[in-house]
Amino acid sequence: MAQLSQPPLLVVTDLDGTLLDHHSYDFAPAQPALTRLKRLSIPLILNTSKTAAELAPLREQLGSDAPFVVENGAALLWTDDVWPACAEPLGAMMGHRMQPFGATRAEILSALAQIQRDTGLNPEGFADWDVPTLMRHTGLDAVSAQQALERHFSEPLLWQGSDPELKKLARALRSYGLRLLRGGRFVHAVGNSDKGRCLAPLKRAYQRQWGREPRVIALGDGDNDVAMLELADHPVVVRSPVNPPPRLSAACRPRALYTEACGPEGWNQAIHHLLDHYRLP
Ligand SMILES: [Mg+2]
Repeated sequence: MAQLSQPPLLVVTDLDGTLLDHHSYDFAPAQPALTRLKRLSIPLILNTSKTAAELAPLREQLGSDAPFVVENGAALLWTDDVWPACAEPLGAMMGHRMQPFGATRAEILSALAQIQRDTGLNPEGFADWDVPTLMRHTGLDAVSAQQALERHFSEPLLWQGSDPELKKLARALRSYGLRLLRGGRFVHAVGNSDKGRCLAPLKRAYQRQWGREPRVIALGDGDNDVAMLELADHPVVVRSPVNPPPRLSAACRPRALYTEACGPEGWNQAIHHLLDHYRLP
């Protein structure tokens, strides 16, 4: 790689299957790279299909006080003390400032109910499940499952039908201004948002704070990460043990890094590689 100057960096990352192991949700193999980022004061922005409630304990484990993005890009959350420079707050949730980008879950569930009446398609989703059922489908413990059910902007669906039926569902959702995103374990009915929408406001806020436009390293393993990866300066496709790599555009592929190892191990390798590239200690 060519030598570059040292612009400020932001790391924006998916969790499931990317920073967290697909099966065990463990991030220990990424710890060396996480420690290096912390030492360099490079913000670690979590950008996930998870809810704010689910993320709270994980952010504590990761020691992360950076802004974060929940429910597949539906909202960006941050606290005043860590990010006073941002002037775009439009709401509040769980003690955080919030900038929403998508439809509410109530709007999504109402559209799904109407689609079921119109088409007969009736995918099971989180709204149909109690805590024990979600535990069976995900392997989450009871507390984590309860947090996963506290959703505000998206509805994960367990798709068991055919591909043509899935396309039909996506078409029907589009007629309500909603979208279907394929994640590692579920398909997600979401508003007109994606995991890339947060990048511009994030870059603006950090540019105000730092006086220089940051470069973005983004890491993901699924189709729902494509919008984020496409907008990154350094897209990293983390290998998945279960899914083929997401398809990036021809314009994006040449600057993308594809990890050899899966999940947090691949994450660790990619971050070290890019920090070495910028000659960071
Ligand atoms: Mg993922």
